[in-house]
Amino acid sequence: MTAGHRRDWDVVVVGLGALGSAAAWALARAGARVLGLEQFELGHHRGASHDHARIIRRSYHTPGYVRLAGLAYGAWAELEGEAEERLVVTTGGLDLFPAGSAIPPGPYRASLEACGVPYQWLDAAEVMRRWPAFRLDPDVHGLWQADAGIVPAAHGTRLLQRLAGGHGATLLDRTPVTAVHDRGGWVEVATSDAPFRAGRVVLCADAWTGDLLAQLGAHLPLVVTQEQFSYFRPADPDDFAVGRFPVWIWMDDPSFYGFPVWPDAALKTAQDVGGPQVTATTRGFDPDPAASARLAGFLRTRLPAAGAHDHTATCLYTLTPDRDLALGPLPGHDHVLVGLGAAHGFKFAPLLGRVLADLALHGGTEVDISPFGLDRPALATPDPRASYLV
Ligand SMILES: Cc1cc2nc3c(=O)[nH]c(=O)nc-3n(C[C@H](O)[C@H](O)[C@H](O)COP(=O)(O)OP(=O)(O)OC[C@H]3O[C@@H](n4cnc5c(N)ncnc54)[C@H](O)[C@@H]3O)c2cc1C
Repeated sequence: MTAGHRRDWDVVVVGLGALGSAAAWALARAGARVLGLEQFELGHHRGASHDHARIIRRSYHTPGYVRLAGLAYGAWAELEGEAEERLVVTTGGLDLFPAGSAIPPGPYRASLEACGVPYQWLDAAEVMRRWPAFRLDPDVHGLWQADAGIVPAAHGTRLLQRLAGGHGATLLDRTPVTAVHDRGGWVEVATSDAPFRAGRVVLCADAWTGDLLAQLGAHLPLVVTQEQFSYFRPADPDDFAVGRFPVWIWMDDPSFYGFPVWPDAALKTAQDVGGPQVTATTRGFDPDPAASARLAGFLRTRLPAAGAHDHTATCLYTLTPDRDLALGPLPGHDHVLVGLGAAHGFKFAPLLGRVLADLALHGGTEVDISPFGLDRPALATPDPRASYLV
């Protein structure tokens, strides 16, 4: 890119994690002149899209999410087609509900049924018969959904960037956006280097979203937490291999989740939402011993063959009060779009990229994103009640 061409972009995408990279891919594929700006090096570990694995699943607590997940599988298939590479690893998924669980099974079962998605409801004995690594009390039930699996996090993000570039997107790393100005009809995106002018800007800045919105005089009640994930080395990794062991979620408070051994000999598991509230700048990178102890205690009783601890790393969750995605124009700023995964967005990334591209280029999308608008009560109320376990 030469300095003379800097000003004229259809869309600037701010942030090149999974969502921004997917938006850049979809925009460039659609023929738009797209510039993606990332403040750090591509593939860095300070956000939410690094490491190996993310869960993809249809089992969700509303029919809207079950349908969205169905569309997400289609979007991954499209990405696989273009990349000529298999990305979704089907393992089957097991949601484990102890009696009286903090996350109730009813809405999950009803939503799958409403959408005609097959699942099995298993008692504890049947779960342990099929997957003997689990040690469950008799009051636990398992919701088994055969399509669930793994999508590759860092690799998938890198791939989206590569394909975006192949379609002509310009992606600049180490280019922090210092401000976004709504000029009414177009936007100016300021960087320490040069300002860029564009028809629309798509903010996919996750934990940094609040900083960019503040520049526009806007605010969303987002909470950033520092979370961590750990790898264990089972004595017998074959017992946890893809095909023999599923992705799983413990649907209680605390909630834990985990994967089969993938891609190499270690087993990934973590707590969902338990970490301290931080900001993208105050966060640390050291594991929290209390969180490690919580996970170790859970594994000792429920998954004792998980084996010896290998290593733990940190990441950031950016949470909306209702844990719902945030997608769409910033109220009062039609040319500024926001895409935020609310700490469960990776599975939807290729789909959300297309949705954001549709919004940026056509002002609408065929996908029902009505629950995720930035003007919904949970985001518009000054002090909304937060409920992150869904
Ligand atoms: C440990 C962990 C486990 C998860 N598990 C799952 C799972 O199993 N399934 C699932 O579906 N989802 C999961 N998620 C959620 C999912 O990974 C995230 O929703 C998704 O990766 C967010 O992508 P993103 O692109 O919005 O954010 P990020 O990857 O954080 O990218 C945002 C980017 O914006 C850049 N940026 C910010 N501000 C600026 C600026 N001013 N200028 C330039 N660049 C800027 C940042 O540097 C960053 O690279 C998990 C998340 C974590 C952290």
